[in-house]
Amino acid sequence: MTEHEVPEGIKESLEIDLEGGCLRVRGERFCLVTPTMLIALHKELETLMGKSAKAPIYMAGEKAARAKAGFYRQMLHEAGMTEPGETEKLEYLSRAMAGFGHGRFEIASMDPSNSTMNIRVKNSLIAEAYGTSETPVCHFYAGYHAGIAKAFTGMDVHCEEIRCSAMGGDVCEFHIAPLEAFAAILPQVMSARHRG
Ligand SMILES: [Zn+2]
Repeated sequence: MTEHEVPEGIKESLEIDLEGGCLRVRGERFCLVTPTMLIALHKELETLMGKSAKAPIYMAGEKAARAKAGFYRQMLHEAGMTEPGETEKLEYLSRAMAGFGHGRFEIASMDPSNSTMNIRVKNSLIAEAYGTSETPVCHFYAGYHAGIAKAFTGMDVHCEEIRCSAMGGDVCEFHIAPLEAFAAILPQVMSARHRG
């Protein structure tokens, strides 16, 4: 498989049940929604909550990722990816995310000495649908990265989007680190978790 191919099992297992009104990938229920539907929800929350809408959107991403961890573990297992290191697993999962249409994820940097990682995303579905913004908007993906990292490493991490294509430029970039590395914003992070 080249790095641009959809990981095994996504395309082949796509099942559309018109009678039942169900679409499944690898036996799991999915649905096709337009990005505008997701962004409408996102912007309604911002209208209600202002900048603090970031917290529930982030937490939704984190919870969604943790709920899907078993799905990704099974995908890795069936692809024979149980033995490789974390980098190989993450690269495989990034291809899966591309296959699901979220954008092209790649590991920009990784430092095992302090358990940090930066992930870049080209063609973020959220940023593209959101339009221009003065601040990052891909809160759902930030939470999703944190949820995946927690599920696969067992570490208590947090993720912040440090640049977003909605602000200009062609990529979004996310920084993942142990929770204690975010001391400056720790009260907001813990508050979001409490509400979540
Ligand atoms: Zn973004």
